[in-house]
Amino acid sequence: MDFTIHCFDKLPSTNEYAVSKAESLPEGAVITTLCQTNGRGRLGRKWESGCGGLYMSVVLKPPAGADIRALPLIAGLAASCAVEKVSGLKAMLKWPNDLLVGSKKIAGILTESKLPIHIVCGIGINVNGEGFSPELGGKATSLFIETGRKFSVADVQGVTLGFFGPLYENLCSRGFAGIKNGYLSRCVHVSDGGFIKISNGGERAEEGYFSGITDEGALLLSTGRGIKTILAGDVSLRMA
Ligand code: ADP
Repeated sequence: MDFTIHCFDKLPSTNEYAVSKAESLPEGAVITTLCQTNGRGRLGRKWESGCGGLYMSVVLKPPAGADIRALPLIAGLAASCAVEKVSGLKAMLKWPNDLLVGSKKIAGILTESKLPIHIVCGIGINVNGEGFSPELGGKATSLFIETGRKFSVADVQGVTLGFFGPLYENLCSRGFAGIKNGYLSRCVHVSDGGFIKISNGGERAEEGYFSGITDEGALLLSTGRGIKTILAGDVSLRMA
């Protein structure tokens, strides 16, 4: 897959820009900026986006019929592989797509779609950030904080896209089943005993033990009332 990088000094949000232009941009267009003034997470949450981080959004136009429900998972997987390749850090995936070093978040993914027309996949990686606001409560980290070294953001971007491209093509042509083991090998729930709590913003929360990932990328949660299949959608996951 070919990527064309469109680089800006400052944008409110690369996802917002990419979504607004997605119809006229080809697949593989990548919107990137040195810093975001209104970086977003899921459910309207804020993504802190000071200079020195990687902020990029990839425009995707998957072929009709491709099952790309696991796109957020493969974006997280690409980021995890890239973080390890450039820094040696083992960054683990918290389903569906947050990236943790220890218990701190080093990267996040935000996918937004107008299917079947296009989908925008935003990837944010904390690269050279030296600190975060107190609101994050010490729960964020960066490659710099973890290693004491500074990295070329362009390199981190290139390496991330180098992993993302083949994973995306594979997902479109063959689905998530063949990628799942690679995902599981970096999945924090497999190794941590796996008690998790899921909420969808409303009162109904589910809790139980991690019991696997389906071939579509859904989470299997073992609860007192049997195994529940949780779709990524807009749920939030907390680990006990
Ligand atoms: P969640 O992890 O709850 O699913 P999101 O994926 O939507 O949330 O990410 C947004 C959340 O991530 C914010 O509410 C904040 O707690 C945290 N956050 C914001 N900016 C950063 C950042 N640069 N690095 C790590 N975590 C961040």
